[in-house]
Amino acid sequence: MDPTALNRLRGALGDRVDTTHVSLEAARGDRSGHTSAAPPLAVVHAESPADVQETLRIAHETGTPVVVRGAGTGLAGAAIAGAGEIVLSTLRMRRVLEIRPDDLLAVVEPGILNAELDALLSEHGLWWPPDPASRDISTVGGNIATGAGGLLCAKYGVVRDAVLAVDLVLADGRLLHLGHRSVKGVTGLDLTSLVIGSEGRLGVIVGATLKLRRLVPGTPCTIVATFPAVRDAARGSAAVTASGAEPSIMEFMDARCLAAVHALLELPPPRAGVAQLTIQTDGRSAAVEADQIAAVLRDAGGTVTLTDDPVQGEELLRIRRSMHAAMAALGTTLIEDVSVPRSAMPAMFDEIARIERDYGIEIPTVAHAGDGNLHPNFIVQTPEIPEHIWKAADELFRAALRLGGTLTGEHGIGTLKSRWLAEELGEDQWQLQRDIVRVFDPAGILAPGRVYAPHASQHHATGSNDAEEPHA
Ligand SMILES: Cc1cc2nc3c(=O)[nH]c(=O)nc-3n(C[C@H](O)[C@H](O)[C@H](O)COP(=O)(O)OP(=O)(O)OC[C@H]3O[C@@H](n4cnc5c(N)ncnc54)[C@H](O)[C@@H]3O)c2cc1C
Repeated sequence: MDPTALNRLRGALGDRVDTTHVSLEAARGDRSGHTSAAPPLAVVHAESPADVQETLRIAHETGTPVVVRGAGTGLAGAAIAGAGEIVLSTLRMRRVLEIRPDDLLAVVEPGILNAELDALLSEHGLWWPPDPASRDISTVGGNIATGAGGLLCAKYGVVRDAVLAVDLVLADGRLLHLGHRSVKGVTGLDLTSLVIGSEGRLGVIVGATLKLRRLVPGTPCTIVATFPAVRDAARGSAAVTASGAEPSIMEFMDARCLAAVHALLELPPPRAGVAQLTIQTDGRSAAVEADQIAAVLRDAGGTVTLTDDPVQGEELLRIRRSMHAAMAALGTTLIEDVSVPRSAMPAMFDEIARIERDYGIEIPTVAHAGDGNLHPNFIVQTPEIPEHIWKAADELFRAALRLGGTLTGEHGIGTLKSRWLAEELGEDQWQLQRDIVRVFDPAGILAPGRVYAPHASQHHATGSNDAEEPHA
């Protein structure tokens, strides 16, 4: 690192450059529970696109790596920063620049929290559909950079479906305006889509034009169905999908997750051994659809309760939203995020059970059952993930691939999943994606070593030292 980088940053940005122990320590980790080996150089609290540009110009000229950070709620270790790196925080850039009910769009800065934005939009009868369970604590910029999903995805889509345009500062400080404000737009390559889910490797998102929806009318209905076994619950959710019903939310929790959350929230313990589906219907036909779904679930062997009380409904969903906190309370977690075709969910649960038996471990699992996205959790009592757990995770990922699925449905690759990326993409695509990153950032300033870390076949096959090492 060029020793003048910090001095130049201080000269240009004054007290927005933070080197306090507490800030540097916080930037060493995210909500994955993993931390870097040493603290970064400084945290820059950008307050405007100009601050971001200035930081990147200095970083570029001094060859100093930069890790972009939103709220640090990521679960893949993507925002974890280490020795010699500048952390560029967009958390203070939280202005809403425009809300246009007529065009169903809003223009925002990246640091606004997802739930904070929705509270403002609701005053206009609008909402932004992406709703990660972390919506109260994660930023819109982070949601875009991870391509976040959430509870409502099966019906209302993911971040990718809800962004029209992004303003992006490149690694050398140039500002690009990607995308469009119109509903349609196919001019040139779709670089907005490329930025969504790019995990801070292509540039810094300093503004976003979001695609909104009008608030859904009517009172939602919430259904809870319990099943004697995991596979029965998985079959129940598959039956709901096959029935043609379109619930807004369909979440699965196995008995261990359910018990852990009840303990965390100090609720009476759930019935031993049962797996649970929590389902919500919305819109004017919510009640009719809820009755239909309840019948499907009963036919599938579920014990069903149904409420149209929104407060009670929120309480029931709070149990699902508290899952990550409940797992984190049990130990060091490795949260997997595999996604499979919905019809393959029962088979994926069989694979999880097989891996539990083979490795003599428990893998408490929740799933966004409406879209086939599972979060199996590996929990250990050591600060590091031991090798046999990585092996079990490896088997889990391979099982998802065999079933036509993918390594990550919504959390991203970050530092924790990069060892598997090439295997899913294939060598040619992995290299092509690396080359694309180089076009955006030829000097390798942004988050080097994240996502495209060296991988086994590359070392064995070519002895290549082509992939950058993370600084963390
Ligand atoms: C309790 C809990 C529940 C969660 N539930 C969900 C869920 O349901 N669905 C889901 O998808 N995720 C979930 N997550 C994960 C996490 O909240 C999301 O990945 C979220 O989108 C991260 O946002 P953030 O602002 O915290 O970003 P960070 O963690 O700070 O950063 C994440 C990535 O985005 C990049 N980034 C951040 N801001 C910018 C920017 N302005 N420009 C460029 N790159 C940027 C970072 O470099 C990093 O690569 C959950 C996490 C927790 C703790």
